[in-house]
Amino acid sequence: MSTDPSVSVFEQRIVEKKTELIKAANVIASELKNCSNDDLSKSAKAFENLVAHCKDSIKFRLIVHLDLDCFFAQCEMDKNLKLKNVPMAVGSNFMLSTANYEARKYGVRSGMPGFQAKQRCPGLSIIPLDFGCYEEASERFFTVLDIFDPECIKAGLDEAYIEITNIYLNRKEPGKFLYFVVFFNIYL
Ligand SMILES: [Mg+2]
Repeated sequence: MSTDPSVSVFEQRIVEKKTELIKAANVIASELKNCSNDDLSKSAKAFENLVAHCKDSIKFRLIVHLDLDCFFAQCEMDKNLKLKNVPMAVGSNFMLSTANYEARKYGVRSGMPGFQAKQRCPGLSIIPLDFGCYEEASERFFTVLDIFDPECIKAGLDEAYIEITNIYLNRKEPGKFLYFVVFFNIYL
């Protein structure tokens, strides 16, 4: 308990509650990171418990952060299917924006100079940036998000925050919800 007289008991309780929730959320996040599909039901239960706990204690809002996986590389692989199974990155010899998982196996990373990436992965295909294509794909992404939350917050071409509080509260099958959060794959 704080001894600061300017902090009310109520405020102190909020701080404690937040700390408790962050701790619980971190446990779930680490469980999700390591769990297989079979283990998901356990984490789903933990998630449900956490939400039940939050709902009764503080103003409850459920906000999901979505960040599409290696977005520019995915767009390029959709344009040219031959790139799907070979190491590839998007960018230039000067700097890479992103790389697919085949390239990541060799240690190729975002922000790395292309020439350095080629030293690690001589077979790497470097595809020049095509922002027109990424913007089109991004528009399709946000069109889908609009269905869930018309006021979603855009944090980049492939990144957004959506509020799904009402979707969650009105859900028909509680056990399926976590799948929605974790495996929300959008096929552009
Ligand atoms: Mg991303």
